[in-house]
Amino acid sequence: MTFPTATISISALQHNFARVKHYAPKSKVMSVIKADAYGHGVIAVAEALKQSDAFAVARLSEAVSLRHHGVTLPIVILEGVNTADDFQLAAELELSPVIHLSSQVDLLSSITLVQPLRFNWIMVDSGMHRLGIRPEDIETALSRLTASGNMNDEFGLMSHFANSDLVGDIRNQHQLEHMQSLKHKTGLPVCLSNSAAVLAYPESHLDWVRPGLMLYGISPFANTNAAEHELQPAMQLTTQLISVYDINIGEQVGYGGDWSAKQASRIGVASIGYGDGYSRHLSNRSEVVIRGQRCPVIGRISMDTICINLTDCSKASVGDEVLLWGRSELMVEEVAEYAGTIPYELVTVLSKRVNRDVIDG
Ligand SMILES: *Cc1c(COP(=O)(O)O)cnc(C)c1O
Repeated sequence: MTFPTATISISALQHNFARVKHYAPKSKVMSVIKADAYGHGVIAVAEALKQSDAFAVARLSEAVSLRHHGVTLPIVILEGVNTADDFQLAAELELSPVIHLSSQVDLLSSITLVQPLRFNWIMVDSGMHRLGIRPEDIETALSRLTASGNMNDEFGLMSHFANSDLVGDIRNQHQLEHMQSLKHKTGLPVCLSNSAAVLAYPESHLDWVRPGLMLYGISPFANTNAAEHELQPAMQLTTQLISVYDINIGEQVGYGGDWSAKQASRIGVASIGYGDGYSRHLSNRSEVVIRGQRCPVIGRISMDTICINLTDCSKASVGDEVLLWGRSELMVEEVAEYAGTIPYELVTVLSKRVNRDVIDG
């Protein structure tokens, strides 16, 4: 048997997609499957979410790979591209690079693509100041893109919230107002809401929503978990106990001796470590579940192993399943807090060494 394993549930992904439709019934859905579908395995996820109206990835390479795997839905490249060759490849494969920079408009005005790009999106900088063209320059960009002959007439305006996880923050309203005013001026469809906005900011849903994290059954908010939004975790991360032994009072466990036994203790070793993407920041902080019971992770996380205090779980034995996250007993949101990070990071950094097992249930 291979371990560690990230078990990916198709039915959970589809349930979560239905939750997006529940929250935003009037909007089309652009499912965000960048970064290997947030570490869940993009090919299986694209198949599970084929009811989406479109997909979005970050980079050209991710979009090309999806096309080569036979994905036929529109694919938006959120980071866009910056060379004539890359625009040519996007046109050939009917991919949709987002336009977020005036030099991209200049470039498209100076070349002739094999066929016009379709399903075109312009990224507006409505206040995040990451990628995007300023609102006052959008209409010029639009007319230049149309005049270039390299884009058909399917245009939309996109923007991204900087603070959507802060419910009620006035900055979100300012960003929304910029987009509503552009929608009014141009008559174009607008795509603005990520997961947090889908869940908590209905006014922002508009024509298209663009969720990522919630599709994977994870809450984007610091103070809630998936269950509170009726989302189902799509990934269960498990491994096996590969050693169980007893130590004496005062003995130290692991590199640096960061943990020492205050009493005679039973220790387990599970096969997962930072070489699998299980964060080293979880050293001496996290918990795991064995036989339905919570057990503390002790000492430093190694490259391939973690140590667990089994003193209160004395039936645990070699070969037992160890849950790292992904069931109601232990959700990734909680583990992210132990690591001092966000769940986005924990799931996306899982390494290739973690086996992905896709199941229907
Ligand atoms: C990643 C990303 C999303 C998805 O955000 P979630 O918080 O995962 O829902 C949407 N839009 C852009 C531009 C992104 O980069």
